[in-house]
Amino acid sequence: MATVTCHNLYKSFDDQPVVQNVNLSVPPGEILVLLGPSGCGKTTTLRLIAGFEQLDDGRIEINNQLVADGSRHVPPEKRRIGIVFQDYAIFPHLSLAQNVGFGLKRGQSDRVEEMLNFVGLGGLGERMPHQLSGGQQQRVALARALAPQPVVLLLDEPFSNLDAALRVEMRQEVRRLLKASGTTAVFVTHDQEEALFMGDQVGVMNAGRLEQVGTPEAIFHQPRTRFVAEFLGQTDFLPGEVTDQGVQTPLGTLPQTLPLASGTAVEVAVRPDDLLLEPDEAGNGRIVSRQFVGIAFVYGVRLDDGTLVHSWQPHENSLAEGTAVTVQFAAPHDLPCFHQNHIVPDKSR
Ligand code: ATP
Repeated sequence: MATVTCHNLYKSFDDQPVVQNVNLSVPPGEILVLLGPSGCGKTTTLRLIAGFEQLDDGRIEINNQLVADGSRHVPPEKRRIGIVFQDYAIFPHLSLAQNVGFGLKRGQSDRVEEMLNFVGLGGLGERMPHQLSGGQQQRVALARALAPQPVVLLLDEPFSNLDAALRVEMRQEVRRLLKASGTTAVFVTHDQEEALFMGDQVGVMNAGRLEQVGTPEAIFHQPRTRFVAEFLGQTDFLPGEVTDQGVQTPLGTLPQTLPLASGTAVEVAVRPDDLLLEPDEAGNGRIVSRQFVGIAFVYGVRLDDGTLVHSWQPHENSLAEGTAVTVQFAAPHDLPCFHQNHIVPDKSR
């Protein structure tokens, strides 16, 4: 049984729908990440689960208890949820121990110390928040949210105030702590790398709708919509045509993955790591841009038919702009193929 179930959530502000037909379920102990661009409705979905917003339609269950539908609204404090926001929201005038103990009944000082130890701040209970780094403050926020043993923890962009290096460290640490405590969590971010790292499941939202929910690998390698393909990493689209032999593209024929008739025009999504480049005077494209991104070069290649694609190459394959090249597929998996608004069937269910 799922710990959190959302069924057909619908919410509008000023007659503008911001969450539409959102369905998701989070099994016990799993982390579901809601990923999407700014304004797509991630935070509103989280606030509906928390009870800070009232549903217009749909149903939310937490631990198999109905907490919201079109007519019922259980208030946030009765939902047994924990919340971690991006701005930490810890009380500046309370010590760490007082912060962590805030939601606990009196006499639970053992639990306070246990939680401070759990997040790596054991023995620092008397300190004040201003004496802590940003990462440490976020640990306090996590300890405070977990102390009352919530049924589900909701995290809204919890690392966005941290610098890049600390973000990476904290995401590893928080995932480890959530797994160690068996906590069920819903985590909101617009950062795809963070989503792929944190999530057992990732739900990609676009304009109020969940376009796909799946494991990080499935979302990345088998996007079901063009939007999901584009949102997760740099993606180019090759024109293709369905034939009896497979999908014909400017880079050769690929296996046919969609149930479409011969002659149908499609687009094939390719990422920079899906393509090989070789210098070749008689090749099928020419390098038009060259970008150093630290671990590799990213080359922009204009194919003979005019399509622009990108390819990552190791430093030893250093090529100048203007070099004629042969571009080949190198992906060890089927490349996702799209036909207008056709949604790729989900084979994992
Ligand atoms: P971000 O990453 O920028 O926070 P988001 O995906 O979390 O974006 P939401 O905060 O859920 O998006 O907002 C979705 C839409 O709903 C936005 O257009 C926003 O302006 C609108 N919205 C959110 N809350 C309210 C509100 N209380 N009143 C009116 N409009 C709102």
